[in-house]
Formats: sequence, C-alpha cells, structure tokens
Amino acid sequence: MLSLQGKRGLIVGVANDKSIAYGCAKAIRAQGAELALTYLNAKAEPHVRPLAENLGASLILPLDVEQAGQMEAVFAEIAQGWGKLDFVIHAIAFATKDDLHGRVTDCSREGFARAMDISCHSFMRLAKLAEPLMSAGGCLLTMGFLGADKVVGNYGMMGPVKAALQSSARYMASELGPQGIRVNVISPGPLPTRASGGIKGFDALLGKAAARTPLNKTVDIDDIGALAAYLVSDGARAINGQIILADGGYSMVD
Ligand code: NAD
Repeated sequence: MLSLQGKRGLIVGVANDKSIAYGCAKAIRAQGAELALTYLNAKAEPHVRPLAENLGASLILPLDVEQAGQMEAVFAEIAQGWGKLDFVIHAIAFATKDDLHGRVTDCSREGFARAMDISCHSFMRLAKLAEPLMSAGGCLLTMGFLGADKVVGNYGMMGPVKAALQSSARYMASELGPQGIRVNVISPGPLPTRASGGIKGFDALLGKAAARTPLNKTVDIDDIGALAAYLVSDGARAINGQIILADGGYSMVD
C-alpha cells in the first residue's frame, strides 16, 4: 500500500462497523491519513462516534445532506481546522422501500427526487465545497453498483439513480481534472450492510454472487477499503473518471 501520510480527507457514510465507509476509513487511517468523519443525526451519533474516536478521527461532525446548511458547516470546520483537503469519500444512498421494491415504472415523483438528492446530487454538492480546499489537487470517490448498468432484482429505481451518479462522476472528472482533482466510482459487489439489508431478497443476491464469483468469495468492506486507500493515494494519480468494479469478477461471468 502507498503511504497516505500527510493527507487529510472527509468520509461521509459511516453508520456502523459494517458500513463500506467504515472499511474505507480503517484502511485509509492505517496508511496514516487524517480523517474527518460524519454521522447522520443524534440517533446515529452513539454508533459512529466510538468508531471514529477509535480511529483517531480529527473531526467528528453531524451531516444529514437533506438539512440545509449542515454540509456547509462541515466544510467550514474543515477549512478552519485543516485549511486544505486531499480527498472526499461519499458512501451514502437512500430510497424509500416502496420506491425501491416497486416497479421503476411506478416510482413516485417525490421518492425519485429524494433518492436522487441524497444519493446523487449530494456528491456534486460535496465536490463543489471541496474544490476550493483542493487547490493542490485531490480525489473524490463515490460508490456505484452494477444495478446502474444491468437489471438487478429488487434494486428498482436505485438502478437509474446509480446510473446518474456514475455518469455525474464522469462529467465531474472531466471538469475538475484540469485542477488535478480526480473523480472515480468504486462499484462494489454485494455485501451485507444496513443499507443492503433493506433490499428485499438481498440474501439470495449475496448467495448468487458467492456461487458465481470466480474468486470464490463475495467482497467485504476491507476489500473496498483497500481499493479506496489506493485510489486516494498518489499511486492512482493517472486514474480519473473510472467506474472500478470491485466484485471479485462477478459482473463478467454470464
Ligand atoms: P450503510 O447503511 O452502512 O451506509 C449508508 C449510509 O448512508 C449510512 O451511513 C446513512 O447514514 C447514509 N445516509 C442515508 N441518508 C443520508 C442523508 N440524508 N445524509 C447523510 N447520510 C445519509 O450501507 P453501505 O452498503 O455501506 O452503503 C454505502 C454506499 O455503498 C451506498 O452508496 C450504497 O448504495 C453503496 N453500495 C453498497 C453495496 C452493498 O452491497 N452494500 C454495493 C454497492 C454499492
């Protein structure tokens, strides 16, 4: 692994020790980076704060991307405390169960707008606020999914939402590239987290992935963390605008 000593980054999306964002935080901290971590709200704080403290996070702040002003407050703290930022990891998504499990054809206007706002547009807002703090370059990462490109059972409207996120990341990579800011998407294979637990039939999806993945195992949060640590490192300086599938080869098998 390449050292992340001297780098400072914000990671959004830790809900508990099963979160992909936590896997990223562990791996990145292990390489020496300083971390700012966020928790969704007061209910989530007791689950996130001990994990963040154990990792020695420098900043632990509330962030519900639906709450006006909270994201700006996070960046104000970062600007004051650090004055610069090297990376941001966006690992959040939300859809109501009805919209997730119903037909895309039936998806409500409000449900689609809310899922897009939390799961996709929030990445653009993070990028816009990070940009002035990345005058020496930086790296923005988000989490996609195979359901963006293929029809995955019970993934419903999150498929189109992830497609929008992945496409947005490419446009942002092209816009921010000249400033040395790289934008990439990790597309993890299915793994058990709180968010995936809310998807109907997720155990069957996991079982199918386990049976078909050439590496004979599904991925875990440490696999995704290792990749994220590499992508935010200078070793990945030529990787920009990519959707990187981290699924043990599952997606290529027919
Ligand atoms: P998780 O439940 O651990 O994390 C989801 C996070 O989203 C939580 O921390 C939650 O607080 C946050 N969130 C939801 N609404 C929010 C809001 N309004 N403001 C701020 N944060 C909010 O689940 P996870 O599986 O680690 O999900 C992380 C990312 O990885 C998501 O984008 C998900 O779509 C993606 N992903 C997951 C899988 C999988 O199989 N678990 C596969 C591919 C991609």
